[in-house]
Amino acid sequence: MNGADGQSPVIVVGAGLAGLTCALDLVRAGLPVRVLEAADEVGGRVRTDRRDGFLLDRGFQVFNTSYPQVRRRVELPRLRLRPFTPGVLVHTAEGSRVRLCDPTRRPSDALALLTAKRERGTGPGPLALAALGPLCALDLLAPPRLLKRLPERTTREELARWRVPERVVDGFLRPFLAGVFLEDDLDTSSRMFHLTWRSMLRGTLTLPADGMGAVPRQLAEDLPPGCVERASPVAAVSAAGVTFADGSAAGARAVVVATDAAAARTLVPGLPAVATRTVTTYHHAATRSPLREPTLLLDARRRILNTCVLTEVAPTYSSDGRALVSTSVLGTDAPGREAALREVLAELYGTGTRDWERVGTATVAGALPAMVPPWPLSRTGRTASGVYVCGDHRATGSVQGAMASGTRTARELLADLARR
Ligand SMILES: Cc1cc2nc3c(=O)[nH]c(=O)nc-3n(C[C@H](O)[C@H](O)[C@H](O)COP(=O)(O)OP(=O)(O)OC[C@H]3O[C@@H](n4cnc5c(N)ncnc54)[C@H](O)[C@@H]3O)c2cc1C
Repeated sequence: MNGADGQSPVIVVGAGLAGLTCALDLVRAGLPVRVLEAADEVGGRVRTDRRDGFLLDRGFQVFNTSYPQVRRRVELPRLRLRPFTPGVLVHTAEGSRVRLCDPTRRPSDALALLTAKRERGTGPGPLALAALGPLCALDLLAPPRLLKRLPERTTREELARWRVPERVVDGFLRPFLAGVFLEDDLDTSSRMFHLTWRSMLRGTLTLPADGMGAVPRQLAEDLPPGCVERASPVAAVSAAGVTFADGSAAGARAVVVATDAAAARTLVPGLPAVATRTVTTYHHAATRSPLREPTLLLDARRRILNTCVLTEVAPTYSSDGRALVSTSVLGTDAPGREAALREVLAELYGTGTRDWERVGTATVAGALPAMVPPWPLSRTGRTASGVYVCGDHRATGSVQGAMASGTRTARELLADLARR
């Protein structure tokens, strides 16, 4: 397929956030572009299925409005965003529930935290939490370019250097960050931690009314009609074109591989191996909401990553008024795991869960790259083979990282074409 001016198109393999972002920049620069996607819909790891009257995201995820790429590219009103409350609830090791909030957002909650009698369980405690103040001030106020240049170590080591008390680390940060980085040893790069913490402090966590899949769908809608070709798996690539899984071929002016890390390594030999994290999310329907607020609930004993009544955040996730409870755990599903999970959820929510209906289970292998140090926060899209590569594995495992990688790769490709 040639462009209007007779040029071969640039082919982008993969219509996840990275591929769509890259394609948008190439189209804006006036190039003909074909986006070839193996699946029947765009989005990659950010997709939403409709099942039994519910919107089921493929794994629990949240949409952070503070990401620079999001602010630059996404029309937020089109997503009809629904916010989570700022802060989280933690089920403490002793079995009580404490609310941890960002005092700059909800001063009344901060006051409540300071004055509340901490019965039964201790939780991290206000004085211990105050130790987070200097760290929060740095991440809130310092420009990202400075945070990216801080000495790199594990998040665990970084929190120790900031003298964050163990009670705060184990009672709040470890359970919270486990759900963000999909690992609970705090092995993730401290630079990634600072950037993530900054985005949490500055942004609002939300869900789009139509599910997380609405984000990539919006990007795809902004591409020219016919630009994205679904159900078009690519089996091989070169700098001059691609071969489809059915054996047919297409020429290209340049090729961008915008797949996940494992598929990229198959298509472009020589790419570094990237270890990844696996997560499973269980979706349950309940006749009545077990928690009447749009707040993330964590477990200090780390039997789960997090749980949330999604319909309290976005009632549109249910078509019949039943509550949708989504709970994530590290690793894969296994026989008996969901039954054991119900027991934990009964304790966390303080209600019976036997009559909850399991409406979906999403295991995502390769959900995130394991961003252990040394982890470059941005890698070039250029490779020795002449094929370009982008995706979260070339930046950071996040919506921001995937889109930033797509942006960078488009910029490099355009610069190279201008020099030819
Ligand atoms: C459960 C879960 C929770 C998450 N939570 C958050 C969160 O709360 N906040 C956040 O910022 N980030 C979160 N992330 C991370 C974020 O979703 C990802 O970093 C990002 O979506 C990755 O986008 P990508 O375009 O790099 O890759 P992908 O989304 O993997 O896109 C790659 C695309 O390539 C296609 N493809 C693969 N092989 C081929 C082939 N041979 N031919 C054609 N097409 C092919 C795939 O079908 C896919 O569509 C989460 C991820 C998961 C899985």
